[in-house]
Amino acid sequence: MKNDANINTENAICSSPFALNAANPSVFWASAGGAMVGYDNTRKALSNIDLSPAKGKRVLLKPNAGRDAAAETGATTHPHVVAAAIDAFREAGADVAIGESPITGVKALEAFESTGIADVARQRNCLLIDMDVRPFVPVEVPEGVAIKSLKLCREVTEYDIVVSIPVMKTHMHTGVTLSVKNMKGCLWRRSKVDLHMLPQIDGIDEKPLDIAIADMTSVLRPHLSIIDGTIGMEGLGPGAGTPKPLGVVVVGVDAFAADSIACEIMGISAGDIPHLKMAADRGYGVIDLDKINVSPANWQDVRSPFELSPTALSLEFPGFTILDKQSCSACQSTLLMFLKQHGEQLLDERTDDKDIVIAIGKGHAELPEGTLCVGNCTAKHRKNRPFVPGCPPVSSEILNEYFRNVKQ
Ligand code: SF4
Repeated sequence: MKNDANINTENAICSSPFALNAANPSVFWASAGGAMVGYDNTRKALSNIDLSPAKGKRVLLKPNAGRDAAAETGATTHPHVVAAAIDAFREAGADVAIGESPITGVKALEAFESTGIADVARQRNCLLIDMDVRPFVPVEVPEGVAIKSLKLCREVTEYDIVVSIPVMKTHMHTGVTLSVKNMKGCLWRRSKVDLHMLPQIDGIDEKPLDIAIADMTSVLRPHLSIIDGTIGMEGLGPGAGTPKPLGVVVVGVDAFAADSIACEIMGISAGDIPHLKMAADRGYGVIDLDKINVSPANWQDVRSPFELSPTALSLEFPGFTILDKQSCSACQSTLLMFLKQHGEQLLDERTDDKDIVIAIGKGHAELPEGTLCVGNCTAKHRKNRPFVPGCPPVSSEILNEYFRNVKQ
């Protein structure tokens, strides 16, 4: 497996201080019931890993607190899992803090409150960090195919050890979001959105977003992964899916191996997740089940297939005409989320009773005047139609463009 020696990039976050057999990484899991299931499972799974290299080090815990949502929704990391990580690293002699850079429109400290993470941090006098406050650190991505640089949150480069603590979720754009993808929340402020704005790359079928995440992992991989499957999310993840109580925690030093086992528990093959497959093919981690040592060995007992994000969605909304020609599920799901979140607001603010017309997909030869064109596939109409770039586009940009150029 590649490590820092192969990446001459100042500020790259990659090689772990914890013991790792890079060719045959180990992954540990625990599953039990009880009121403190997330805490107990995390401590039990972590007990298999020698955390002594963390002694005297500064450890940054990076949960998924990217949304204003309680852990019971399955959208965010359970606070009991974060509490267990704080305790385990402190017992190992580390100085521990918790950091997050949430999705656009969400404030980190408010999200910490909503998730319950602020409570467990206060009980332990553990520092909470809004990683969007300080200036970013630029990082080159020499091996990048879709991106050549990133803006990292400063704390990520300052702490000695970064621990990714995602919640186990399906994701409508990337298949799943686990410990590798959770590191996207270490990208500074709206620079996360830049990864959605990339053009299709000639000769590569995968979405540029997936390629960019694989690129990101060449310089930004967690030193340890703790995957929270206490309550996951299935279906329309990462924000609008259904909670999936599972009561399992998966940990590993190789984030790809940990993600691969978490995927299997979810009934998904990591080989079918483009960002994991591309990055593993480049040698950044191992997703091949035959090469991963899983302990306890009976992990198949906790396998509980997640409902996948749908590949085709019904986009019928009263008051809207959706023109969909040759789009993909990523644009459909973005638009569905957008209509659920903002559809009523747009209709309330209409000054006539005409439908609001939105187009997605690359198959439109012509479009009615005033059509809101969403996604890079509609870019050929951008000269004379309002246009939202992105592949997939982001919901907040659709709203901005609507009020900027459609509703006059
Ligand atoms: S339909 Fe949307 S998400 Fe799909 S390829 Fe086109 S712009 Fe990208």
